[in-house]
Amino acid sequence: MKAVTWHGKRDVRVDSVPDPVLKEPEDVIVKITSSGICGSDLHLYEVLGPFLTEGDILGHEPMGVIEEVGAAVTQLQPGDRVVIPFNVSCNSCFMCDQGLQSQCETTQVREHGSGAALFGYTKLYGQVPGGQAEYLRVPFGNSLPIKVPDGPPDDRFVYLSDVLPTAWQAVEYANVREGSVVAVLGLGPIGDMACRVARHRGARAIGIDLVPERLARAKARGVETIDLRGAGKRLTEVVKDLTSGRGPDAVIDAVGMEAHGAPAAKIAQHLTGLLPDTMAQRFMKEAGIDRMRALYSAIDMVRRGGTVSIVGVYGGMADPMPMLTMFDKQIQLRMGQANVWRWVPEILPLLTDEDPLGVDDFATHRLPLEDAPKAYETFQKKNDGMVKVLLKP
Ligand code: NAD
Ligand code: ZN
Repeated sequence: MKAVTWHGKRDVRVDSVPDPVLKEPEDVIVKITSSGICGSDLHLYEVLGPFLTEGDILGHEPMGVIEEVGAAVTQLQPGDRVVIPFNVSCNSCFMCDQGLQSQCETTQVREHGSGAALFGYTKLYGQVPGGQAEYLRVPFGNSLPIKVPDGPPDDRFVYLSDVLPTAWQAVEYANVREGSVVAVLGLGPIGDMACRVARHRGARAIGIDLVPERLARAKARGVETIDLRGAGKRLTEVVKDLTSGRGPDAVIDAVGMEAHGAPAAKIAQHLTGLLPDTMAQRFMKEAGIDRMRALYSAIDMVRRGGTVSIVGVYGGMADPMPMLTMFDKQIQLRMGQANVWRWVPEILPLLTDEDPLGVDDFATHRLPLEDAPKAYETFQKKNDGMVKVLLKP
């Protein structure tokens, strides 16, 4: 089969690789029909190279049709349509029972201290081949795949694999209630969807980014937007001006460690010299921290007693935090990989014809698998108005 494979920094290819086969009685083989590229894939593309092996199959946002089932699979049969959560979770251990599928004890990757294994995330997360491919082997066939109805296009359901539960958890962890004000840093797929979920739940959303198309897209859906390039060192002030001088009740950081892409990284570098001179920012400068800019502005702008929900991934091994500011402002921090299955029952009822979250036209690009190398490059650079790509194997 064809699959998207990692070969080096900014080098992904479409290779011919062996077809996956059933190994365990509960395995299923899925013929993939749609597979997203995620901001998390960009971390592998850009910075996590030392952890990868050439030929690793990428991708953790797939859906498709059951092709084959193992002898012990009773809940699915060939022809069923399924979405595959990005966590490889058993749904029967202590952690899964708590709704902490990202900490599944059955698949936990102990040698790295990581949580549950993930599809397409290399040896960092269990060396499970990914879903940017024609076929995928999926374990726990009786409990892991999300069975979805036939009929509506893939776009309706595919984001159950990651974007929807991730944005949903970001909003839950931000304690967003009716009437809350939430600022969202980063308007990539995750931040964009987090704004939609927050607004759907009656909150006011302020979205911040530096890519014009992404700002425009959020604005068109009723989000108040701030262009980071214009706000410069006044970002916290601009946000406070919009929030009775206090700052938002919650800030969601949907940026992560190196989402900036090459041209944006230059802008980011430029912005470093313009940061507001608050305690958190001074600390950041003194610590020489550059990659964590979004996280620090989140801590800086959130109101006292507010919550910062970190959904962007920070892979740093030693990340000093401004403890004095966080203590003094009495900030709550919540974070982590999304526990996909935990939120599926709440999200599924919204995937109706009314489509309140706008999933049907969420993708900006639908491309054949062969175009993956170009798609990675464009998505990383945030060019061509690309916000969400679905590969169509
Ligand atoms: P993305 O790269 O498309 O989005 C990041 C956005 O942040 C971009 O639009 C970029 O322009 C913007 N940005 C960069 N610097 C900024 C700054 N200082 N302030 C405000 N905006 C800034 O990626 P995505 O797919 O939306 O993913 C976002 C993050 O979420 C990534 O780190 C990804 O790994 C993470 N993620 C986490 C989970 C989870 O389970 N927690 C799941 C999926 C993705
Ligand atoms: Zn993802």
